[in-house]
Amino acid sequence: MKVDYIIVGLGLAGLAFAEELVENNKSFIVFEDSSQTSSLVAGGVYNPVILKRFTPVWNAKEQLAVALPFYKQLEAKFNTKFDQKFTTKKVFKSIEDQNNWFEASDKPKLVDYIDPNLDTKSYNGVLADFSFGNVKETGRIDTKKLVETYRNYLESENAIRFEKFEHQQIKFQENTVKYEEIEANNIVFCEGFGVTENPFFNKLPLNEAKGELITIHAPELDIDFLLKSTLFVLPLGDNIYKVGATFNWTDKTSNPSEEGKKELVEKLEKVINVPYKIIEQTAGIRPTVAGRRPLVGVHPTYKKLVVLNGLGTRGVMIAPTVAKQLYNHLENGADLDQEIDIIRFIKKLKA
Ligand SMILES: Cc1cc2nc3c(=O)[nH]c(=O)nc-3n(C[C@H](O)[C@H](O)[C@H](O)COP(=O)(O)OP(=O)(O)OC[C@H]3O[C@@H](n4cnc5c(N)ncnc54)[C@H](O)[C@@H]3O)c2cc1C
Repeated sequence: MKVDYIIVGLGLAGLAFAEELVENNKSFIVFEDSSQTSSLVAGGVYNPVILKRFTPVWNAKEQLAVALPFYKQLEAKFNTKFDQKFTTKKVFKSIEDQNNWFEASDKPKLVDYIDPNLDTKSYNGVLADFSFGNVKETGRIDTKKLVETYRNYLESENAIRFEKFEHQQIKFQENTVKYEEIEANNIVFCEGFGVTENPFFNKLPLNEAKGELITIHAPELDIDFLLKSTLFVLPLGDNIYKVGATFNWTDKTSNPSEEGKKELVEKLEKVINVPYKIIEQTAGIRPTVAGRRPLVGVHPTYKKLVVLNGLGTRGVMIAPTVAKQLYNHLENGADLDQEIDIIRFIKKLKA
């Protein structure tokens, strides 16, 4: 069997690259072994503002301009809703916090997103002594629904195998690579934290961070915006909310933990004061990178092997842009943005 591409991993990165191939009539086969959960458990939030520091997210405007139409097109393709738009309300901790907000609202890269007027309303069950600041153009992609829908679609097209890709089985030929009976022009590895088991790319500097979330039912909490304090409370409808997320740099498992739950509960009870019940807890490893830029490009020695990784905490916004750039690089010879090109780690990759 001959294909243009093998894709390893069908999270947000693999999905965005696969869709690029579909759009361009390229043939491909995906391998997916369910070893990682990041795209399935993600909050899925997109927000162009870093609310810890009131600074813009890297290339936010450009990324949103690609990402929002991308998800809209997938909604049309599958006749399913994935994108839920809402306002994000930042809970201020102090007067100083409010002043920093006013200052930030004037910055050219934030002016479209930050509403300078304070929201002084009160919302039943929400604790906020210093009011709220509204962020516009935010929302959430239901990444679990999207990834599952896409995997089903690929399955119906016989374009996905639910099995582990074994790197040592790759055979290098003159102009192609072979894996079992499949001959491909390129293999694109979209493995998330799984890249640590990839002998060709495992020297790339991931600084992965485990994250945990809980889902709660709070019958007296009735908000339709995302509440952001030291954690987020994200409305799913019917008084159900996703609450997250933790950051843990030592635990490398995707198992929910008591420690994670305790941290979330302690933070949650500083921002809501109504009864609630935890109905689910999930966890995953974010493929975050030292330097906070994605890891994209062709291996300097094995030119048929390609990586698309390092989406970090913002896979929803970043994936469609970097997948497109990678495709144009591979098929049309376009330069990759230097900030994302793995060539910046050439010494590590050749070591
Ligand atoms: C708790 C939490 C909350 C988050 N919240 C947000 C958020 O609100 N907004 C946002 O934008 N991002 C969020 N993220 C980050 C987001 O999840 C990631 O940026 C994104 O999902 C990474 O996608 P990926 O495809 O690179 O990796 P993954 O989702 O990890 O996908 C990699 C896939 O490759 C498969 N795989 C790996 N190795 C192999 C192999 N050898 N053979 C076959 N298959 C293999 C894995 O099973 C997996 O399905 C969150 C992450 C976590 C953990």
